[in-house]
Amino acid sequence: MSFRPASLSEALLIRKTNDVMVYCGGSDVMIKYRSWSGTPAQFPKDVLYIGHLKELKSIDVNDFEITIGATVSYAQFLQDERIPIEYKKPVEQIGSVAIRNIGTFSGNICNASPAGDTLTMLYALNAKVIVASTVGKREIAIENFITGPGSTCLKNDEILTHIIIPNQKFSHTYYYKVGTRKANAISKVSVFAVADVVEHRVTDIRIAVGSCGPTVIRLKEAEAKIIGSNTSNIESMIYSLLTMYDDKIVPIDDVRSTKVYRSKVALNLIETFLVKELGQ
Ligand SMILES: Cc1cc2nc3c(=O)[nH]c(=O)nc-3n(C[C@H](O)[C@H](O)[C@H](O)COP(=O)(O)OP(=O)(O)OC[C@H]3O[C@@H](n4cnc5c(N)ncnc54)[C@H](O)[C@@H]3O)c2cc1C
Repeated sequence: MSFRPASLSEALLIRKTNDVMVYCGGSDVMIKYRSWSGTPAQFPKDVLYIGHLKELKSIDVNDFEITIGATVSYAQFLQDERIPIEYKKPVEQIGSVAIRNIGTFSGNICNASPAGDTLTMLYALNAKVIVASTVGKREIAIENFITGPGSTCLKNDEILTHIIIPNQKFSHTYYYKVGTRKANAISKVSVFAVADVVEHRVTDIRIAVGSCGPTVIRLKEAEAKIIGSNTSNIESMIYSLLTMYDDKIVPIDDVRSTKVYRSKVALNLIETFLVKELGQ
């Protein structure tokens, strides 16, 4: 059976009273539960479709936050001129035009793949998610919401309704995704990093690495070591910084790549950001 609620409150009631799988854009679930060619997908439980819910289809931008509704597609995000272009870079490289027309941040987050391409940006920008149920809402930091590969702390009666990104400006923003080809490629490795440099001194820095561990990796100890440094000194610190990252980067071998390749490339990308981008 499938449900198509008329409102968010109806969706939450259905979620509370039925054992259902939330279906937003469907670009992950249709692959996960695909069946033989020409036959419908075989879902393990009833489906709650929310992709049409207007209440969750807007993006709000103010001086402090960018709030993205759960049913906002990547295409809608990319078309919004209020969104800083730096934040569009990871989204521009997701899938293909067709996938970006249906795929959503909320699906990418709830799918909780370590290779999810919005996740490095959301971790680096200290994003939060809002989840709702019939009894209220919870606001959860992204790194607490995702608890492992494919797992989150979302409860059975909850729906992720919004993603909140602090609307902060940075002097440096860096994104690099390594995939097998330019379109429709799941990341082998990706890095999203931001920094603020004031008069050659680093006042803020966050580096998030994707596809290199059970969840996105951010090393706050390494970031704390860099904050306060003069950019001209970063090259001399690079060996000890990369050693810290090397200890925490724990990729796997899979169909897309090897752990040796992933580690090497991740460290190269971090070095490029620290030495070439910040050191200039
Ligand atoms: C050809 C192809 C290429 C792709 N390329 C990329 C890529 O380059 N990078 C990348 O990161 N991903 C890629 N993907 C994966 C997918 O498109 C993304 O993860 C997308 O963001 C999923 O969003 P969705 O709305 O379609 O999720 P859905 O498939 O609807 O849902 C995904 C999961 O999240 C849950 N869910 C969805 N929304 C909510 C909600 N609001 N509340 C609670 N639970 C929810 C669902 O129950 C399900 O478990 C690709 C997929 C395909 C088919």
